[in-house]
Amino acid sequence: MMPHLQGIGMTSQRTRDRLITRLSEQGITNQKVLDVISKTPRHIFVDEALDSRAYEDTALPIGYNQTISQPYIVAKMTELLLEFGYLQKVLEIGTGCGYQAAILSQLVGHVYTVERILPLQRKAINNLRELKLKNISYLHSDGGSGWPDYAPFDGIIVTAAPPIIPQTLLQHLVIGGVMVIPVGNDISQKLYRVVRKVDGFSIETLENVSFVPFLSGKE
Ligand code: SAH
Repeated sequence: MMPHLQGIGMTSQRTRDRLITRLSEQGITNQKVLDVISKTPRHIFVDEALDSRAYEDTALPIGYNQTISQPYIVAKMTELLLEFGYLQKVLEIGTGCGYQAAILSQLVGHVYTVERILPLQRKAINNLRELKLKNISYLHSDGGSGWPDYAPFDGIIVTAAPPIIPQTLLQHLVIGGVMVIPVGNDISQKLYRVVRKVDGFSIETLENVSFVPFLSGKE
């Protein structure tokens, strides 16, 4: 691996292994998810000034009022999404700097990721190219409209919190498809897992979470 990707000191494999121990202690059990997080450099997704904090289990700023999600939440949402089996096509709403997409793309067939802030999308594309991850497609758009050209999807992951689950995204799921989504406002949010059934949707309410808001339009 390139030295920059491999990391040294606070970005070394040893530091990353401590994060993996912490994630297991917090209840992440999917070994494939842990392995992918362990081998994926997170420091390339943040500003160099934050490199030394990249393997702390915390969200960090990425500019434009947005954050890179906390590793625990990335691991948890990925595990919830994959629990019922392999997914070929997965839609992500909220590319951000691309970290969640990087983890997912190593565990599913193809990731279709939508971001409303163009400079963040550009950052993500650069980051994911550096990691040579190629099974990812990008769209600059308001994710509230999903990505009709490629729908339906086997899985959908939403990384910003809308006040209610967008109808279009529900309609973007195949029968048997799974969506993991935070729902709420800036005071209180919960994580939901939705599975599309032949005759409707089953919805599980999971833990309290704290995401940036799901906004409409693009910039
Ligand atoms: N998946 C990212 C999380 C980034 S934060 C990670 O791995 O760290 C959430 C992102 O969702 C922000 O970049 C924000 O701009 C984006 N977002 C918010 N509302 C959106 C919408 N309606 N459509 C697309 N992206 C949206």
